[in-house]
Amino acid sequence: MAIGSFKVKYALYLVIFYLVLAFAWWTVLLNVKNEDAFEAKKQYMKLVMIAQGEVQSDQEFELHPDYLDLKWNYEKGRYMIYGEAFFFVLSLSVAIYFMGVGYFSEMRSAKQKRNFMLSITHELKSPLASMLLTFETLLKRDLPNEKVKKLSKNGIKESQRLSHLVENILLAARVESDYVLNTENENLNVIIEQCVAQQKHRFPNLDIELELDESIPKLDIDRMAIQSILINLIENAAKYNDEQSPQINVITKSSKNKTLLLVKDNGPGIPNEEKNYVFEKFYRVGNEDTRKSKGTGIGLYLVKEFVKLHKGKITILDNSPKGSIFKIEM
Ligand code: ADP
Repeated sequence: MAIGSFKVKYALYLVIFYLVLAFAWWTVLLNVKNEDAFEAKKQYMKLVMIAQGEVQSDQEFELHPDYLDLKWNYEKGRYMIYGEAFFFVLSLSVAIYFMGVGYFSEMRSAKQKRNFMLSITHELKSPLASMLLTFETLLKRDLPNEKVKKLSKNGIKESQRLSHLVENILLAARVESDYVLNTENENLNVIIEQCVAQQKHRFPNLDIELELDESIPKLDIDRMAIQSILINLIENAAKYNDEQSPQINVITKSSKNKTLLLVKDNGPGIPNEEKNYVFEKFYRVGNEDTRKSKGTGIGLYLVKEFVKLHKGKITILDNSPKGSIFKIEM
């Protein structure tokens, strides 16, 4: 959290704390005044009644209907003061709290948009520049076959990166407006096998292990959406990993009438306080100016939206000894 919003947060807590204290103090004062007024009226009433011979003793006075009436009015006033102070502080605190929540969510969204603009510029420019350089080199120089192959492979990799990015941006726009699932009764394991084969080709260093439960039932799923979920999770597992050869496990199994899809990695993991935020659109852990890995913050947003459209649930767990587990229930 930025220093600015950190300060605002504590200023807000301080205001709420001050309000509670101030109203507590006013309530006590008001109550003392109410009690003083009651005691004065009581003494006056007692003197008048004794003078007029209506009562002879304190005991008789305290049972007199006029005194009981006075006492009842005093008690009523006391409860009114406490009750009103309580509801006033409560409603004010709730209002300040919701204003604060709105303020912080606006701040976060503005920061995420700024991050997105910074990252998207880089993400679009860098593969284009690399592809341009590749083609220029191929055209200008008479290179040996091996070198041509290497440069072409690099060009293909960069164009795949660009195409994946553009696809994610378009999908995010569609998910927000009119994406309708095109479901068919499909075998999830088959989609996973095909998708993983493509990703192994894309990331030759990746060690992707499959543990697919053959007994899971066929599901009504949108093939394209499931592919997008897998591609984004696998790409993240590869990207956010400091190991030389990242290990990824893609697992399917049945549990309590549900099908589970787990994608595990051995990367740095995701801190608990970030787990709820990483599914927000454009959200990226850390700061765009200092972050090493590039991205746009769209991948996990898409994953969550596609899971939601399938009426499923996604959670992030910690892997052991390190890393993350993305668990999808459908
Ligand atoms: P992007 O990868 O483009 O930044 P995502 O929406 O895919 O956007 O991910 C959001 C953030 O969640 C990332 O910036 C990263 O910090 C964190 N993250 C996602 N997947 C992983 C993972 N497997 N391990 C660690 N951190 C992750």
